[in-house]
Amino acid sequence: MNEPQDWKQLKLVGGQPCLDFVNTVDRDGERYSQDWFRDTIDVIGWAQSVGLLSSAQAEALLRQVQQQPEQSVKFFNQAIQLREALYRIFSAFAAKRSQTADDLQLLNTLLSEMQGHLRFVAVNSSFTWEWAETNQLDFILWQIVRSATDVLTSSDCDRLRECAGVGCGWVFLDFSRNRSRRWCDMEDCGNRAKANRHYERKRKK
Ligand SMILES: [Zn+2]
Repeated sequence: MNEPQDWKQLKLVGGQPCLDFVNTVDRDGERYSQDWFRDTIDVIGWAQSVGLLSSAQAEALLRQVQQQPEQSVKFFNQAIQLREALYRIFSAFAAKRSQTADDLQLLNTLLSEMQGHLRFVAVNSSFTWEWAETNQLDFILWQIVRSATDVLTSSDCDRLRECAGVGCGWVFLDFSRNRSRRWCDMEDCGNRAKANRHYERKRKK
C-alpha cells in the first residue's frame, strides 16, 4: 500500500492556483515549519489536484521524471524558487511593503518564457488563448506565473491578505463582506488564536 501523500491533506484556501501554490508551506518567520512538497512528483500531483494538469498530462510528466531525473531536480529547484519569490511578492503587497527587484525580475523572466508558449486562436465565433506546449514540466510554472500576474493586475488585488496565524504565512483573497478575514482557515489558525487568547486570559486571572 502506498503511503498517503502529504499534499493531499492541504486545504485550498487561497482562491487562485498561484496562492494555493504559495500555501504548500507553513512559515514561521524565515523558517519552514512544514513543506508539503518533497519532490517534482509531489508538484505534479498537486498541480493535477488543483486542475492545472489533466490526468493524461500528469502521467506524461511523471514519465518524464523517470526518464530525466536530472531535469526533474532542476525543475523542482526552480519551482521552489518561484514559490519563494511569489510568497515575498504577495506578503509584501498585503502588508503594503515595497517589492524586491529580484523577485519581480524572476517573475518577468518566467513570464516572457511563458508568453512564447501561448497562442491566440479563433474558436467558433470568438478568440481565446491556448497553450502551444503542455508536455513539459515548466507548463506547471507558466500557469502559476499567469495566475499570479492575473491576480496582481486584477481589481481583487487589494483583497490579498497573509494569514495572521503564528507559524502560518498562507496567503488568500479576502472576499468576506466587510473585508475582515484574518485567518487562512477558521478551523486551523482561527481556532488556534482563539485558544491562545483564552489561555492568556485564564493565566492573567
Ligand atoms: Zn493560517
